Amino acid sequence: MTAPLRYSIRPKDPAAHLFEVRLTVEEPNASGQVFTMPAWIPGSYMIRDYAKHIVTIRAESDGLAVALRKTDKTTWQAGATKRPLTVVADIYAYDPSVRGAHLDLTHAYFNGPCVFLSAVGHENASCEVQILPPDKPVAKDWRVATSMRRKNCEQYAFGIYEADDYAELIDHPVEIGHLLVGEFDVNGIPHAIAIRGATRVDIGRLCHDLQRLCEQHMSLLGVPQDLDRYVFLLHAPGSGYGGLEHRWSSSLVCNRENLPIRGVAEITDGYRTFLGLASHEYFHLWNVKRMKPAAFTPYDLRRESHTGLLWAFEGITSYYDDLALVRSGLITPESYFELLGRTISRVMRGAGRLHQTLEESSFDAWTKFYQQDANATNSIVSYYTKGSMVALALDLKIRVETESRFSLDDVMRACWARWGQSGEGMPERGLEQLSAEVTGLDLADFFAAAVRGTGELPLPALLKKMAVNYQLRATSDRNDKGGKPADKQPGPWLGATLAESDARSIFAAIHNGGPAERAGIAPGDVVVALDGLALSSQNCDQRLRSYRAGDKLELVVFRGDELLTTRVRLAEAPADTCFLTIDTDGDAMAIARQAAWLASD
Ligand SMILES: [Zn+2]
Repeated sequence: MTAPLRYSIRPKDPAAHLFEVRLTVEEPNASGQVFTMPAWIPGSYMIRDYAKHIVTIRAESDGLAVALRKTDKTTWQAGATKRPLTVVADIYAYDPSVRGAHLDLTHAYFNGPCVFLSAVGHENASCEVQILPPDKPVAKDWRVATSMRRKNCEQYAFGIYEADDYAELIDHPVEIGHLLVGEFDVNGIPHAIAIRGATRVDIGRLCHDLQRLCEQHMSLLGVPQDLDRYVFLLHAPGSGYGGLEHRWSSSLVCNRENLPIRGVAEITDGYRTFLGLASHEYFHLWNVKRMKPAAFTPYDLRRESHTGLLWAFEGITSYYDDLALVRSGLITPESYFELLGRTISRVMRGAGRLHQTLEESSFDAWTKFYQQDANATNSIVSYYTKGSMVALALDLKIRVETESRFSLDDVMRACWARWGQSGEGMPERGLEQLSAEVTGLDLADFFAAAVRGTGELPLPALLKKMAVNYQLRATSDRNDKGGKPADKQPGPWLGATLAESDARSIFAAIHNGGPAERAGIAPGDVVVALDGLALSSQNCDQRLRSYRAGDKLELVVFRGDELLTTRVRLAEAPADTCFLTIDTDGDAMAIARQAAWLASD
C-alpha cells in the first residue's frame, strides 16, 4: 500500500483572497513527479482551467528547493528526487459560485478541483487533508462543514480529514465560517444542513421538510451502500441561485428571503424553489454521482468528456426534483402542476427546441449550453427543461400503455440495479434499451423522436389520460413564468427580450421570425423609442398594450454610437406559455392514474 498523500490548506491571507495549499508525496516518481490541476469540475460541464488561479507554485524536498517546470496549462513536472517531495501553491480564491473557491474575512469556501493538485500515478492513494484556521481574530468562531471523513478532529472543527483517493478528495466541498447548522436522520443516516448568510431561519422546519424529502427519494431507489452521511452546504445571500451535486453532499446557493422564518407556516413560491433545488441535488446522489454515463467512468478532468446522455442525468433529475415535492406531501398537486407548466413554458418559449435535439444539447453542453450567447434562445434547447419534459412523457407513456403495471420509477430502479450499484458506466443507449426491457414496450420511435428529434412531444394527449388539461396561451408580460392562466391580456408581440445593462435597456435576445428580427434589430441594440416615445425594458409590456397586431411603428435604437431608425410591424403574440389544470370531468381510470402517479410508493 502506498503512503497517503498529505495535503494541507490554510487561508493564508483572507484579505488578499489567498489560500496556501501544500501537497507532500512520500514516494514521488523518481524520474520527476508530475502534478496536474483539473480543467473542470464534475457536474459543471465547462472547461474552467482551475490552474489559472495559481499565483505562485514551488517544490521542495528536505527543506531544499526542487525544480518545478510547467509543461502545459495544467501540468507541472518536478525535478528527480527519491525523497519526500512537497509542492506549495498560493491560490487566488474569489469565485463565489458553487463551482469555485472563495475566501475573504467573512468565510472560506472551496471545491477540491480549485485547490488540490493531483500527483500523477498516485490517483488511487488515500489522501489526508489538514484544514487549518486563518491566523486572524475574526475567524475565532469559524466552524468547518464538509462531508469529508474526519480523521482526528471534532465535528465542525479544524483538523485532519481524509478521503479514499483523489477522486473522492475533490468531491467534498468545504465551507468554513459562521455557520447555522441543523441535523436530522434519514433512515438512520445522519444528515446536516450548514447555512452561511442567514441567521433568522426556522431551522427546525427546514430540517423537518428536508427529512421528508430525502426519505421520499430514498424510498424510490434505496440507500446506497456507501452513503453513511450527507451534508447540504447552503449559502444564502441577498440574491442568487444554483447548486452542485456531490456524492455525500451538495453546495446550494439560494436567496435568503426564500428560506422559512420562524412563525410562518406557508410554503411560499421562494421556499418551494429552495426545496426544489435541494431535491434536485439530493436526487443526483444516485443519478450522476453513483450511476453515471460510461463517458464519465472515470472522469477525465483534463479535457471535455462528451456524452449524449446529460439529458438523462439532468432531465430525469429535474423531473424527479419537483415530483418528490408532491409525493412527499410538501406541496399540493395544484402547486406541482404549476411547476410543471412553468417548465414546459420555458421550453416552448425558445425556438432552439426546433433546431437542437436533446442528444445534441447534451453532447455540446461544453460549448453551447454552458457558453450561451445572445442567439441561445434560437439555437439551444436545455437538456434540463426539455429533458424533464421527456422524462414526464416517458413516465406517462409507460403508465398509460402498461395499464399502470410499470412506470419510470421501475425503469430507474432497474438502471440503478444495473449501473448504480455496480459502478459500471451507462452506455449511450443504455437507458433506452433498459426502458424497453423493463416495460415490454417498443419505445424505439419514442426515443428517436424525443431524444434525437425536434418535434413536439405528445404531452397534451398523455396528460389528458392522467386527468390533466394541457393549455397554451400567450405570455402576458415579462414577469409571467407560466403555469397559471393569464392574469392580464397580452399586448401584440415585438419578438424580442429586453433587459437592463449598464443602467440602459437593451435588446438582449431577438426571436427568430419575429417582428424585431424582421425590422433589423440586433442583440445588444440600445432601446431608445417606439412610436416617438421613450421605450424601456420596464415600460415595454405596458406600451405594447396600447397597440394591435399589424400596427407599423417607428423604432429607434443605438447600435454602438450610431442611431438607427426602423419600422416594426407588431405581430400576434405566440401561444408559448403552458398551464395545466386538473380535469374534473376526467374518467375514473384517468383519475386513478393521476393518483398513482403523484403518490409515494
Ligand atoms: Zn443537476
